[in-house]
Amino acid sequence: MGIPALRAEEFRLFLESESGGSLVLPGAEEKIRKKMSILTEQVVVIITEIAKTIEANKQYLCDLDAAIGDGDHGFNMARGFDVAVKNLAEKPSETIGDALKTTAMALISNVGGASGPLYGTLFLRAGGVAKDFKVLNLSLFNECLKEGIAGVQARGKAVLGEKTMLDVLIPVLESLEKSSAEGVLCKKAFETALAVAQECAEKTKEIKATKGRASYLGDRSIGHIDPGAMSSCLIIRTIYDSIT
Ligand code: ADP
Ligand code: MG
Repeated sequence: MGIPALRAEEFRLFLESESGGSLVLPGAEEKIRKKMSILTEQVVVIITEIAKTIEANKQYLCDLDAAIGDGDHGFNMARGFDVAVKNLAEKPSETIGDALKTTAMALISNVGGASGPLYGTLFLRAGGVAKDFKVLNLSLFNECLKEGIAGVQARGKAVLGEKTMLDVLIPVLESLEKSSAEGVLCKKAFETALAVAQECAEKTKEIKATKGRASYLGDRSIGHIDPGAMSSCLIIRTIYDSIT
């Protein structure tokens, strides 16, 4: 069951409660509560799927990083997400915020490279937005991503166009926000965002790195895809694949 289906279910429950004349029809609250717990579990499933995607692309991400950095991006991300999945399995998440925070702490504590604290901050700040939520929809996802990006920027001081993960994350957020404003369903919104992510990751080839390790190469960083932009793209692809 994917996020759009759950949104539809929420809407149905809302209609039920409205038509009943009272705030919530008998049983509806219980149904909502049940759906909520499924939703937090779903977020855990998606994070587990992200870990699998990163593991499957570990060598590819390291190869990208070897061209303009120190060749460890795939290992860094795989190690962090592996610990995240183990911790998520051991410590039940009450809310979506809990799941995101557990992931954040694993990334911050287990990844040596720049990407660990940066992705960790993204998940931590997103988790702060979702801390009281057990239901995730597109607008909440966007709020989380927006706050996460603000965290990455506060920590890494990079802006759009410096050949980093932000060159995927910022256009993805813009695309998702546009879809949300137009009332596009989640799956379709992520399909559009994924196309944007793939195009933007590819386009980082044209950019000269001015932040992170790749900036030491100057003009020689041109012609190569940024590994962090690609890992962000893989994360978006996994979310798209995981929802219905
Ligand atoms: P390290 O560079 O320390 O070896 P990784 O190889 O794991 O760390 O991650 C490199 C990626 O981190 C880059 O490809 C880039 O996308 C991202 N990155 C580096 N510095 C920044 C920054 N200041 N802001 C945003 N992303 C950054
Ligand atoms: Mg590296």
